[in-house]
Amino acid sequence: MRKYVIMGVQGSGKGTQSEMLAADLDLVHISVGDIFRWNVTNHTKMGAQVQRVMAAGELVGDDLAESVVQRRLAEHDWNYGFIIDGFPRNARQAEFFLESYDIDGVIHLDMPDSEVRRRVFGRRLCAKCGMDYNLLADSPAVPGQCDSCGGELVAREDDTAGALAVRLREYHGKTNPVLDLFRRKEYVITVDARPAKEVVQQEIRSRLGLPPLRAATRSPGQDGEGTR
Ligand code: AMP
Repeated sequence: MRKYVIMGVQGSGKGTQSEMLAADLDLVHISVGDIFRWNVTNHTKMGAQVQRVMAAGELVGDDLAESVVQRRLAEHDWNYGFIIDGFPRNARQAEFFLESYDIDGVIHLDMPDSEVRRRVFGRRLCAKCGMDYNLLADSPAVPGQCDSCGGELVAREDDTAGALAVRLREYHGKTNPVLDLFRRKEYVITVDARPAKEVVQQEIRSRLGLPPLRAATRSPGQDGEGTR
Protein backbone atom coordinates (compact mmCIF):
# COMPACT_ATOMS: atom_id res chain seq x y z
CA MET A 1 0.00 0.00 0.00
CA ARG A 2 1.24 3.46 -0.95
CA LYS A 3 0.18 6.69 0.70
CA TYR A 4 1.24 9.99 -0.77
CA VAL A 5 0.58 13.66 -0.27
CA ILE A 6 0.97 16.02 -3.23
CA MET A 7 1.64 19.68 -2.62
CA GLY A 8 2.17 22.68 -4.85
CA VAL A 9 0.79 26.07 -5.51
CA GLN A 10 -2.46 26.42 -7.51
CA GLY A 11 -1.93 25.63 -11.18
CA SER A 12 1.21 23.58 -10.57
CA GLY A 13 -0.47 20.43 -11.87
CA LYS A 14 -1.39 18.62 -8.63
CA GLY A 15 -4.64 17.28 -10.03
CA THR A 16 -3.11 16.15 -13.32
CA GLN A 17 -0.09 14.47 -11.73
CA SER A 18 -2.24 12.83 -9.04
CA GLU A 19 -4.60 11.40 -11.64
CA MET A 20 -1.74 10.02 -13.73
CA LEU A 21 -0.18 8.34 -10.71
CA ALA A 22 -3.48 7.11 -9.30
CA ALA A 23 -4.74 5.62 -12.58
CA ASP A 24 -1.58 3.62 -13.12
CA LEU A 25 -0.98 2.44 -9.56
CA ASP A 26 -4.63 1.91 -8.57
CA LEU A 27 -4.43 4.59 -5.95
CA VAL A 28 -7.47 6.57 -4.89
CA HIS A 29 -7.03 10.26 -5.73
CA ILE A 30 -8.53 12.42 -3.03
CA SER A 31 -8.78 16.10 -3.91
CA VAL A 32 -10.16 18.14 -1.05
CA GLY A 33 -10.80 21.09 -3.42
CA ASP A 34 -12.82 18.78 -5.72
CA ILE A 35 -14.92 17.59 -2.78
CA PHE A 36 -15.69 21.19 -1.82
CA ARG A 37 -16.40 22.15 -5.45
CA TRP A 38 -18.75 19.17 -5.81
CA ASN A 39 -20.67 20.41 -2.79
CA VAL A 40 -20.87 23.94 -4.21
CA THR A 41 -22.08 22.69 -7.61
CA ASN A 42 -24.66 20.42 -6.01
CA HIS A 43 -25.90 23.10 -3.63
CA THR A 44 -25.38 21.09 -0.47
CA LYS A 45 -25.36 22.61 3.00
CA MET A 46 -21.56 22.29 3.05
CA GLY A 47 -21.41 23.92 -0.38
CA ALA A 48 -23.31 26.95 0.92
CA GLN A 49 -20.88 27.12 3.84
CA VAL A 50 -17.71 27.14 1.71
CA GLN A 51 -18.73 28.87 -1.52
CA ARG A 52 -17.88 32.46 -0.52
CA VAL A 53 -14.61 31.51 1.19
CA MET A 54 -13.48 29.50 -1.82
CA ALA A 55 -14.43 32.18 -4.34
CA ALA A 56 -12.28 34.65 -2.38
CA GLY A 57 -9.30 32.28 -2.53
CA GLU A 58 -9.22 31.83 1.26
CA LEU A 59 -8.89 28.58 3.15
CA VAL A 60 -11.96 26.82 4.50
CA GLY A 61 -11.91 26.27 8.29
CA ASP A 62 -9.63 23.52 9.60
CA ASP A 63 -12.41 21.62 11.41
CA LEU A 64 -14.38 21.26 8.20
CA ALA A 65 -11.36 20.42 6.02
CA GLU A 66 -10.20 17.80 8.54
CA SER A 67 -13.62 16.20 8.84
CA VAL A 68 -13.92 16.00 5.04
CA VAL A 69 -10.58 14.17 4.86
CA GLN A 70 -11.40 11.93 7.81
CA ARG A 71 -14.76 10.92 6.32
CA ARG A 72 -13.29 10.34 2.88
CA LEU A 73 -10.47 8.15 4.17
CA ALA A 74 -12.89 6.29 6.45
CA GLU A 75 -14.55 4.90 3.31
CA HIS A 76 -11.52 2.58 3.08
CA ASP A 77 -11.87 2.09 -0.65
CA TRP A 78 -8.10 2.56 -1.04
CA ASN A 79 -6.84 -1.03 -0.99
CA TYR A 80 -3.68 -0.09 -2.89
CA GLY A 81 -3.29 3.29 -1.24
CA PHE A 82 -4.14 6.91 -1.88
CA ILE A 83 -2.76 10.19 -3.08
CA ILE A 84 -4.17 13.20 -1.32
CA ASP A 85 -4.11 16.59 -3.00
CA GLY A 86 -4.86 19.91 -1.33
CA PHE A 87 -4.37 18.67 2.21
CA PRO A 88 -2.68 19.44 4.59
CA ARG A 89 -2.51 23.15 3.88
CA ASN A 90 -1.29 24.50 7.20
CA ALA A 91 0.60 23.33 10.29
CA ARG A 92 -2.51 22.31 12.21
CA GLN A 93 -3.83 20.16 9.37
CA ALA A 94 -0.38 18.58 9.00
CA GLU A 95 -0.30 17.61 12.65
CA PHE A 96 -3.81 16.16 12.41
CA PHE A 97 -2.79 14.19 9.36
CA LEU A 98 0.44 12.80 10.79
CA GLU A 99 -1.33 11.76 13.99
CA SER A 100 -3.89 9.75 12.03
CA TYR A 101 -2.04 8.34 9.00
CA ASP A 102 1.48 7.28 8.15
CA ILE A 103 2.66 8.42 4.74
CA ASP A 104 5.25 7.13 2.29
CA GLY A 105 6.16 10.39 0.64
CA VAL A 106 5.29 14.00 -0.08
CA ILE A 107 5.48 15.14 -3.70
CA HIS A 108 6.22 18.83 -3.90
CA LEU A 109 5.54 20.40 -7.31
CA ASP A 110 7.70 23.48 -7.55
CA MET A 111 6.60 26.38 -9.76
CA PRO A 112 7.41 30.10 -9.70
CA ASP A 113 4.47 32.46 -9.09
CA SER A 114 4.90 34.11 -12.51
CA GLU A 115 4.31 30.76 -14.25
CA VAL A 116 1.39 30.01 -11.93
CA ARG A 117 -0.34 33.26 -12.98
CA ARG A 118 0.20 32.46 -16.66
CA ARG A 119 -1.29 28.99 -16.29
CA VAL A 120 -4.17 29.77 -13.99
CA PHE A 121 -5.61 32.43 -16.29
CA GLY A 122 -5.63 29.93 -19.17
CA ARG A 123 -7.37 27.25 -17.14
CA ARG A 124 -10.93 26.17 -18.01
CA LEU A 125 -13.26 23.54 -16.64
CA CYS A 126 -16.20 21.85 -18.37
CA ALA A 127 -19.32 22.97 -16.49
CA LYS A 128 -20.97 19.61 -17.29
CA CYS A 129 -18.40 16.80 -16.86
CA GLY A 130 -15.56 18.54 -15.00
CA MET A 131 -12.88 17.82 -17.65
CA ASP A 132 -10.05 20.31 -17.35
CA TYR A 133 -8.42 22.30 -20.15
CA ASN A 134 -5.48 24.60 -20.41
CA LEU A 135 -5.94 27.01 -23.28
CA LEU A 136 -2.18 27.72 -23.37
CA ALA A 137 -1.17 24.14 -23.99
CA ASP A 138 -4.05 22.58 -25.82
CA SER A 139 -7.31 24.26 -26.84
CA PRO A 140 -10.54 22.30 -27.39
CA ALA A 141 -11.52 21.51 -31.02
CA VAL A 142 -14.47 23.96 -30.81
CA PRO A 143 -13.62 27.07 -28.78
CA GLY A 144 -15.47 27.21 -25.46
CA GLN A 145 -16.83 23.66 -25.82
CA CYS A 146 -15.77 20.42 -24.11
CA ASP A 147 -14.25 17.85 -26.51
CA SER A 148 -15.69 15.02 -24.46
CA CYS A 149 -19.32 16.01 -23.73
CA GLY A 150 -19.92 19.33 -25.55
CA GLY A 151 -20.47 21.17 -22.24
CA GLU A 152 -19.57 24.82 -21.80
CA LEU A 153 -16.00 25.62 -20.72
CA VAL A 154 -15.87 28.05 -17.83
CA ALA A 155 -13.15 29.57 -15.65
CA ARG A 156 -13.01 28.40 -12.04
CA GLU A 157 -14.70 30.90 -9.78
CA ASP A 158 -11.45 31.33 -7.83
CA ASP A 159 -9.23 31.80 -10.90
CA THR A 160 -9.48 35.59 -10.80
CA ALA A 161 -6.54 37.96 -10.26
CA GLY A 162 -7.76 38.93 -6.78
CA ALA A 163 -8.45 35.38 -5.59
CA LEU A 164 -5.16 34.12 -7.04
CA ALA A 165 -3.20 36.79 -5.16
CA VAL A 166 -4.90 35.65 -1.92
CA ARG A 167 -4.24 31.99 -2.68
CA LEU A 168 -0.57 32.61 -3.43
CA ARG A 169 -0.26 34.53 -0.17
CA GLU A 170 -2.04 31.74 1.74
CA TYR A 171 0.20 29.16 0.11
CA HIS A 172 3.49 30.86 0.85
CA GLY A 173 2.45 31.87 4.35
CA LYS A 174 0.73 28.70 5.54
CA THR A 175 1.64 25.83 3.26
CA ASN A 176 5.39 26.40 3.05
CA PRO A 177 5.73 25.72 6.82
CA VAL A 178 3.99 22.37 6.21
CA LEU A 179 6.63 21.50 3.64
CA ASP A 180 9.34 22.38 6.16
CA LEU A 181 7.69 20.09 8.70
CA PHE A 182 7.54 17.21 6.22
CA ARG A 183 11.12 17.92 5.11
CA ARG A 184 12.30 17.42 8.67
CA LYS A 185 10.81 13.93 8.48
CA GLU A 186 12.58 13.40 5.14
CA TYR A 187 9.37 12.67 3.30
CA VAL A 188 9.65 15.34 0.62
CA ILE A 189 10.72 15.07 -3.01
CA THR A 190 10.73 18.39 -4.89
CA VAL A 191 10.07 18.24 -8.63
CA ASP A 192 10.21 21.07 -11.18
CA ALA A 193 6.56 21.38 -12.31
CA ARG A 194 7.25 23.48 -15.45
CA PRO A 195 8.05 20.76 -18.06
CA ALA A 196 5.39 18.76 -19.95
CA LYS A 197 3.14 16.66 -17.71
CA GLU A 198 4.70 13.34 -18.82
CA VAL A 199 8.19 14.60 -17.98
CA VAL A 200 7.05 15.75 -14.55
CA GLN A 201 5.34 12.39 -13.97
CA GLN A 202 8.48 10.43 -14.92
CA GLU A 203 10.55 12.52 -12.58
CA ILE A 204 8.09 11.92 -9.71
CA ARG A 205 8.22 8.18 -10.33
CA SER A 206 11.94 7.94 -10.58
CA ARG A 207 12.41 9.98 -7.39
CA LEU A 208 9.90 7.76 -5.53
CA GLY A 209 11.39 4.56 -6.91
CA LEU A 210 8.15 3.71 -8.74
CA PRO A 211 7.80 1.93 -12.11
CA PRO A 212 8.00 4.31 -15.11
CA LEU A 213 4.92 5.75 -16.78
CA ARG A 214 3.29 3.33 -19.21
CA ALA A 215 0.72 5.50 -20.98
CA ALA A 216 -0.54 9.03 -20.56
CA THR A 217 -3.83 9.06 -18.69
CA ARG A 218 -6.47 11.66 -18.23
CA SER A 219 -9.97 11.53 -16.83
CA PRO A 220 -12.87 13.85 -16.05
CA GLY A 221 -13.28 15.37 -12.61
CA GLN A 222 -9.72 16.53 -12.10
CA ASP A 223 -9.25 19.77 -10.25
CA GLY A 224 -8.21 21.47 -13.44
CA GLU A 225 -4.61 22.12 -12.54
CA GLY A 226 -1.68 21.88 -14.86
CA THR A 227 -1.37 21.47 -18.58
CA ARG A 228 -3.05 18.81 -20.62
P1 AMP B 1 -7.74 23.51 -4.62
O1 AMP B 1 -8.59 22.86 -5.64
O2 AMP B 1 -6.84 22.56 -3.90
O3 AMP B 1 -7.01 24.70 -5.18
O4 AMP B 1 -8.71 24.09 -3.49
C1 AMP B 1 -9.69 25.05 -3.82
C2 AMP B 1 -10.17 25.74 -2.56
O5 AMP B 1 -10.76 24.78 -1.66
C3 AMP B 1 -9.09 26.42 -1.74
O6 AMP B 1 -8.74 27.71 -2.22
C4 AMP B 1 -9.77 26.48 -0.36
O7 AMP B 1 -10.75 27.49 -0.32
C5 AMP B 1 -10.49 25.13 -0.31
N1 AMP B 1 -9.62 24.08 0.26
C6 AMP B 1 -9.11 22.99 -0.39
N2 AMP B 1 -8.37 22.24 0.44
C7 AMP B 1 -8.39 22.88 1.64
C8 AMP B 1 -7.80 22.62 2.91
N3 AMP B 1 -7.01 21.55 3.11
N4 AMP B 1 -8.02 23.48 3.92
C9 AMP B 1 -8.81 24.56 3.74
N5 AMP B 1 -9.38 24.88 2.57
C10 AMP B 1 -9.19 24.05 1.53
